[in-house]
Amino acid sequence: MGWSLSLGSIAGTRIRIHITFLMFLAWIGAASWQTGGQQAAIDGVLFIIAIFACVVAHEFGHIFAARRYGARTRDVILLPIGGIARMEQIPEKPAQELVVALAGPLVNVVIAGAIIAVLGPDAVAASLNDNAPSRLLPELAAANMFLAVFNLLPAFPMDGGRALRALLALKMGRVRATDLATRIGHVLALGMGLWGLTQGKPILMLIAAFIWFGANAENRQTQLHAASSRACIADAMLTGLATLGTGALLSEAAALMVHSTQGDVPILDEHDRPVGLLTRGGLAHGLHDMGGDMPVTSVMLRDVPVLPAAEGLEAGLSALEHSGAPGVLASDAYGRFAGLLTLESLGRLLLFKRGAVSD
Ligand code: ZN
Repeated sequence: MGWSLSLGSIAGTRIRIHITFLMFLAWIGAASWQTGGQQAAIDGVLFIIAIFACVVAHEFGHIFAARRYGARTRDVILLPIGGIARMEQIPEKPAQELVVALAGPLVNVVIAGAIIAVLGPDAVAASLNDNAPSRLLPELAAANMFLAVFNLLPAFPMDGGRALRALLALKMGRVRATDLATRIGHVLALGMGLWGLTQGKPILMLIAAFIWFGANAENRQTQLHAASSRACIADAMLTGLATLGTGALLSEAAALMVHSTQGDVPILDEHDRPVGLLTRGGLAHGLHDMGGDMPVTSVMLRDVPVLPAAEGLEAGLSALEHSGAPGVLASDAYGRFAGLLTLESLGRLLLFKRGAVSD
C-alpha cells in the first residue's frame, strides 16, 4: 500500500503506518487543543497512540495464531479504521481459521482484564463515571472491551464474520459459506451505514463501506481460488494474441496497438519463448522519452512470471498476486509462448463457470 511509513519489525512482521493515520492523530490533537488546551491535546494523542498499540497487539494475536499453522505475515498497516495484517495466506481449514479469527479479540479481552485486575473493577468504574484526572488506563480498558465486542460483530470480513464463515464452512463448504457470510456482512454493513447516517457518525459509515467492499473483495478472491483449484492455466489464458520479437521497434509496437484492443504485447525471442511483456503504459512512456527507434526490449517488463500452460490455475493466480505483474506468460511443452493469463481473463473464466463452481 502506498503512502505508508515503516516503523520497524516485530518477529519478522513489518509495522507500517499509513499517512491518513498521522493525519488522524493531527486532527485529534487539534480538536482536543481547541476544547481543552495543550494538556488535552497531549492526552488525546497519547490515548489514540495507546489504543493503536492495542490494535497492533490485536493484529499480532491473529499473526501468531496464523503462524502456528504455517502462515506468514509480511506486514501490518495502521489505518484510522484499525490495523490490517497482510497474511500471505489465511489457513483454509475451518477450525484453524476460527482460532486465527478469535485470537485477535482475545488479546483485547486480556488487556482489558489485566487493567481491571490491577486497578480493581470498582476503581475503573468510578474513574470512568466521575471525571477523574487520570483516566487513561480505565478508558483504555473500556476501549479494549469495545474493540473486542466490535470486532466480534458477525460482519464478514471482520473477525466475527470470519469466525462465522469458518463455522458455516464446517457445514456447507468454503465457497458457499463465504457467499452466505458476505450476504450477512452486507446486511450488517447496510444497517451500520444507515445508523451512522441518522446518528451523524461518519466513522460508522466509513467502516460500513469498508465492510461492504471488503466482503465483496474476499468473496471474489475465495471464488477465484475455488475455480482455479479445478482448472489449469490453459483454461483461463488469453490466446491468439499479437506478439513481437525482441528485435521489434517501439514504432512497430505503436502501429500494432493502434489497430488492436489488446492491452499488453508479449515479447518473444527467436525461438518464440516469452521474455517479457510490453504494456500500453510502458510503450507510451518509451515513445515519449526515447522516440520510436528504440527496441521494445528497452521498455518491456522483464520480471513477468512464465509458467507452463498445463500448470494448475492456482499456481498462476498466486504468481499473479505475488509478482504484481499485469499478467503471467504461459508456455507450451517446448517453452514457446502459448498465452497470457490476466486477472481479467481469470474473472471471465469465473463468470462463465460460476454455475459449476461449488465445493
Ligand atoms: Zn482482528
